[in-house]
Amino acid sequence: MVRGGCKVRGEYDRRYRETHAKESKQRNKIWRENNPDKVKEYRKKNLEKTKLYNKKYREQNSEKVSKGKKMSYLKKRSYYILKQRRYTENNRLAINIKRRPQKREYMKRYLLDPANKIKERARRLAHRKIPLKSFCSICKTTNGLERHHWRYNKPLLVSTLCGKCHSIQHMSNLGGGNHCV
Ligand SMILES: [Zn+2]
Ligand SMILES: [Zn+2]
Repeated sequence: MVRGGCKVRGEYDRRYRETHAKESKQRNKIWRENNPDKVKEYRKKNLEKTKLYNKKYREQNSEKVSKGKKMSYLKKRSYYILKQRRYTENNRLAINIKRRPQKREYMKRYLLDPANKIKERARRLAHRKIPLKSFCSICKTTNGLERHHWRYNKPLLVSTLCGKCHSIQHMSNLGGGNHCV
């Protein structure tokens, strides 16, 4: 019977493909390397088809895809961070100039709130009148020192803290306010 024959034939093909998958993969790879023009042409011709296939694959394997994305992101993350940092370092001046209007706009809006106005006044006063000590009052480090206001209505009551201890103070809500450099 022809139909039966076809079935057997299909089964045979399938099994053949399975057992020779590695071999044919390798062969395909070599062929692609030797025929870059044909590969290009094929890709161009089947662009829509490939897109559709990829979309379908992503839909059917969403978990796998998102996991793979995450993994590759994690692998590249340190590289991205380094790249970003290098860019910022090399273009600091340009970035600052570019952001200046935004900063000014932000400050304007920030000072519309009377509470923020008090904070800003305290900050400026302290900046002028109270010099930073040479070390953090809590952990005694000498790096990254900032002024911390315990109460903004006492603008001259200021401590010198390092960035780390400063953020801890604000996190535990001991000092009140947002930031008081
Ligand atoms: Zn400290
Ligand atoms: Zn503070």
